[in-house]
Amino acid sequence: MILNAYKLDVWDRCERRLAFEKEWEPKTISPLGLLYLALEHALISDDPEQAAKDETIRVAQTRELDSGDHNAFMTIRHLGYLAGIIAVALRQRLGPLTKVEVDFSWESALFETASGIRHRIELVSHWDDDRLRAAAHSWRVVGELAALQAPLTLTAVVIGPQRAGRRHSYWSKGVLHPTNSTLRFERRRGRGGNDFTRGWEDVWREQRAEISTERWLNVMRSDNVLDEMILSREIAFNRDDPRMGRARKDLIEIACRMKNASTKAPMRRSSCDETGRGACPFQHVCYAPKEITPADLVHIYRQIEDDS
Ligand code: SF4
Repeated sequence: MILNAYKLDVWDRCERRLAFEKEWEPKTISPLGLLYLALEHALISDDPEQAAKDETIRVAQTRELDSGDHNAFMTIRHLGYLAGIIAVALRQRLGPLTKVEVDFSWESALFETASGIRHRIELVSHWDDDRLRAAAHSWRVVGELAALQAPLTLTAVVIGPQRAGRRHSYWSKGVLHPTNSTLRFERRRGRGGNDFTRGWEDVWREQRAEISTERWLNVMRSDNVLDEMILSREIAFNRDDPRMGRARKDLIEIACRMKNASTKAPMRRSSCDETGRGACPFQHVCYAPKEITPADLVHIYRQIEDDS
């Protein structure tokens, strides 16, 4: 079995889910899952923005967006624009990126710059010390450190809270002057006073195609909000640190235990909604009023041919 941080994370959260995922793939995808897929595809593309939009549409044509009560078309369009502008901003900051590919036993999720710095990209609704600590302790960081035995940089992109099918942050939302169409995000620091008068209009980027991504990012920069949206922390690797040795031992032991993961394992209810990429897609099975398996829900799950 090829191990990766995602599988380790799922194992930690719920053995039962890991067992389902060995055999079944959901036909649905969460908004956050779609955003990650589009961004990861765009980051290594020559035209990140267009690649993000195209990938969002491509995935949405093959997997139904789990958009709850909200308009799926609106959310898909929003996510395409969001992934696009984040990909452009990351590429402006980091330069060309490639995916790290290592060996047959570990599948890395890191992106490498031309100068060899490896980044773990995390999309977060907000960023604070608790979030940094949680990320630093996670398999997404520790697994990569232990498997690759090299330092990495944790790069968090703040995408804001999700409300009514959209992510609320400066990447997507600004205000426009009612007469001269000046775009703004915040009162410029140092000016004081009330910069915005009544009448400034809230705008979503995907509804203002005439505002180029370049202009949107330039105004974010001049309003001093861009730097707080992408934050990087270097994570050192120390070969002699006993905690790294323990993590490597754990990787091997968990890989063995994963082989016996069972769909009959007890439910881990605190993990059903708290996951890295949206709610667990197997809730339709676990929360069904009678005992069923994914095979009973072929409109929601498709069988994976071979997981080896
Ligand atoms: S719905 Fe909850 S209990 Fe069921 S597989 Fe997912 S995380 Fe586990």
